[in-house]
Amino acid sequence: MKSKHCAACGQIFYPRPQVPLQNYCAAPVCQRERRRRWQEIKRHSDPDYQDNQTRAQQAWCKRHPDYWRDYRITHPEYMKRNRTQQLERNEQARVSSIAKMDASEPIFRLQSGIYRIAGVASAGIAKKNAWIVEITLVSETYR
Ligand SMILES: [Zn+2]
Repeated sequence: MKSKHCAACGQIFYPRPQVPLQNYCAAPVCQRERRRRWQEIKRHSDPDYQDNQTRAQQAWCKRHPDYWRDYRITHPEYMKRNRTQQLERNEQARVSSIAKMDASEPIFRLQSGIYRIAGVASAGIAKKNAWIVEITLVSETYR
């Protein structure tokens, strides 16, 4: 019998004769990983499967309305991790929405603060509708 390396744990195993294409050993954790990978591929490739999964999950949530509330209470580390990840997602969404509104990067950014704008003598400038000014930071108000 020919041995193989498990696709999940990497250990050597002997495929069952009934399943010659077996790629995962019989360890429960590896079988769970096999199902998890299969499901992930199926969810992305089969819209019917995805729709069925969504409806089954919604039905389960209706039958167990307190499950997630109780889970969060009994797993504070899960809640903490979720909050951290959500804050990161919010920050990422904020940054990308700013990038969409403002397609090109400004040449420079003025800091928030109080400025004094003073006209500068425009010697040699012919345009009368253009002002040349000097902007000086008086005080920073932001930070
Ligand atoms: Zn394995």
